[in-house]
Amino acid sequence: MKPIIGISSSLNEHVLSVPIDYINAITKFGGVPIILPNLQVDAIESIVELLDGLLLTGGGDIDPTLFNEEPHQNLGTITPERDEFEIAIIQKMMKLNKPIFGICRGLQILNIAIGGDMYQDIYMQSQNKLLQHTQLAPRSHTSHFVHVIEGSRLSDIVQVEKFKVNSFHHQAVRKIPADFKASAIASDGIIEAFESMNHKFVMGLQWHPECLLSKNDHASTAIFEAFILSCEK
Ligand code: MN
Repeated sequence: MKPIIGISSSLNEHVLSVPIDYINAITKFGGVPIILPNLQVDAIESIVELLDGLLLTGGGDIDPTLFNEEPHQNLGTITPERDEFEIAIIQKMMKLNKPIFGICRGLQILNIAIGGDMYQDIYMQSQNKLLQHTQLAPRSHTSHFVHVIEGSRLSDIVQVEKFKVNSFHHQAVRKIPADFKASAIASDGIIEAFESMNHKFVMGLQWHPECLLSKNDHASTAIFEAFILSCEK
């Protein structure tokens, strides 16, 4: 049986959407993708039973009051019902030790769900001299390097110390709770990936590997393979 992977969606006005690249990626590596709307809390238990894994997709910004901050003036569009749904399903999936893979906004909401915090706008809030994280090149172009942390799960998966990623974010993970650790950082210190030390597979990436598969990107392929493998029963 192929593993069933729930994919979170974006809500804009009255339209629910998911970029096809996520769906194609799950299918390519042997999973069955199911698009999830922002379900009410009482429906989440039923859907979590059905799922073998959860893919948290990219999207807009995250409500800063969820980590006890006031909205920064550069905060973009937020979707409260999406935040609420994703936090609830993350917590239920983790309780059952079912795999979670967070991409871009997905990594950020994953960190908020486990009690971490984040930069609402890296360019205004980080003390470091930052590189460009909101690339203007096409989505399939890799624009900056990430350095893989030795001994991490990510390091086991990609088997390289450094590789290039694409970058489409102005927010980023800041503090990660104990029991989780950064697994890749950019040369300016921005956390580009983190993972759980206690779960079967809970990992977040700040970049978009689903957009790099068409170029046979080694790291993106290896990470999707590892995720789907961990979802198999
Ligand atoms: Mn970046």
